[in-house]
Amino acid sequence: MITTDIDPDISARLAPSITTAACPGCGRPAQILAWGSKRWYACSPCADAEALRRTEIERRTKALAQWEEVTPDEFRRPLIPSLVHPSIRPALEGDTSGGTCLIGATGCGKTRVAYRLLHAAAIRGQSVFAISHAAFRQAAVSRGDRDPRRADEAKTLIQACRCAKALLIDDVGKGAATDVGDEAFFDLLDHRLSHGSLTHWTANSGSAWLKARFREDRGPAIIRRLRDLTPGRVFVASE
Ligand SMILES: [Zn+2]
Repeated sequence: MITTDIDPDISARLAPSITTAACPGCGRPAQILAWGSKRWYACSPCADAEALRRTEIERRTKALAQWEEVTPDEFRRPLIPSLVHPSIRPALEGDTSGGTCLIGATGCGKTRVAYRLLHAAAIRGQSVFAISHAAFRQAAVSRGDRDPRRADEAKTLIQACRCAKALLIDDVGKGAATDVGDEAFFDLLDHRLSHGSLTHWTANSGSAWLKARFREDRGPAIIRRLRDLTPGRVFVASE
């Protein structure tokens, strides 16, 4: 005969019990597993919400790490508003989720602001990437390099520009215009426009200056797409 020293009352208290009660998270009826002083709530809507919350945190953490990686040291520091031209500053006010174009001479703070806009995208959990137009132009040429390592690096760079949910193209118009470079740039803009991907860009001057920075047959179509990527969000620092 098996005997036990445990008092039957204590034994009953230690055994898990399943009851139904209002979930403390959402108030819906849920099963509660009680064991000792611990309680587990089996509530599907709350479990789903928790899983979603964790996914969002993971996505944001990853995006912020990407931002750290692509942002030069000088633009990682908090922005000092007095260093930014008064016509450029409003780009950071209100809803910043749309593609933004920042135009002005060197020193107006446009690139500084552009990296803040990219940071805001990362906080929203969007994957981010940044490139200068000169580096993009170089990558377009290097894609056909005989050195397979250089060619692969260039392809990876261009792919990153296509895939990022939020992209910053800095200093559009800089670098040498080539047929392959202009074609790749047009493809990139067209791809991002058709996918509704967030694209910010900066340039030293407006469309007349920009048009002359591309091959004649590509310029107008590129300018049109640049404009279409930043509807209603154009900030120009006048001299
Ligand atoms: Zn619940």
